[in-house]
Amino acid sequence: MQYTLSFLNPSRQVIDIKIDMQAACENPVFHLPKWRPGRYELQRFDKLIADVSAKNETKKTISVFKLTTHAWQIQAEKGENITLNYRFYANQRDSGGSVFDAEGIYINPCNLLLYTENSINEACTLTLNMPSDYEVATGLKREGNTLYANDFHELADAPFFAGNNMLHHTFQVLDLKVHLWFWGECKPDLEKFEKDITAYTQTQIELYGDCPVPEYHYLLQILPYKYRHGVEHQHCSVNTFGPGLTLMQNDRYESFIELLSHEFFHTWNVKYVRPADMYPYDYGKENYSELHYITEGITSYYDL
Ligand SMILES: [Zn+2]
Repeated sequence: MQYTLSFLNPSRQVIDIKIDMQAACENPVFHLPKWRPGRYELQRFDKLIADVSAKNETKKTISVFKLTTHAWQIQAEKGENITLNYRFYANQRDSGGSVFDAEGIYINPCNLLLYTENSINEACTLTLNMPSDYEVATGLKREGNTLYANDFHELADAPFFAGNNMLHHTFQVLDLKVHLWFWGECKPDLEKFEKDITAYTQTQIELYGDCPVPEYHYLLQILPYKYRHGVEHQHCSVNTFGPGLTLMQNDRYESFIELLSHEFFHTWNVKYVRPADMYPYDYGKENYSELHYITEGITSYYDL
């Protein structure tokens, strides 16, 4: 599966999405995730999708049937190369949504990338058509403007920022390389961030014995108004916080560090070590578990 995301008109906040693939069966069905890991409830990202169309390898338009709120079937022969096109409105400025405007790009793949039952375990690429001066904050393997994932699960769990006004700071804690990506107006005391993040990171790694990832990315979306929301992922976390103006005030800064510590602790507790009910994630329906008193309870105990 090859995904291409084109960012053509920031004022409209609409992303043009193209999927190229070979049909693994007759009339393949494309699914949009019905939920996203970290928020264990049904979501309606389908409402943000429009203009779904498809073409075959001779560029002839082929039929698209909307089967359910989250599924589209394409009329194609097995083995045929097909292209699916659609649009996504990206204007949800929290840690679980996606954003595209003149300030930059935040993509949460679970919101907008369709998959098929046959492709979900296959390697996939994501190519970004965006301004040439944009850099990408991602934990995925990257060559130029193309990101590589071993399967849809890895891609879905790898949100990223892209833009030309991010503040990037890196440092090492034991064997772990830590990346801070600040997006949004703020004046962070990087020395203080590094010292405090190092303290809890070292404690958590020593608690578990080692760290399951070699690099960790903090995607930090800083807003001009009061906000606090984080979502954990395998190689990163997205943390939306504000106001940027008071970021370094004691109580706000401590609240932010607690949030970052909480999401980092999830690298083990719920990502690397996960309730069997949610392994692998089933994006086609809500996933129930009776173990969130462990995944969230123990994480909250240790985040302070
Ligand atoms: Zn949590």
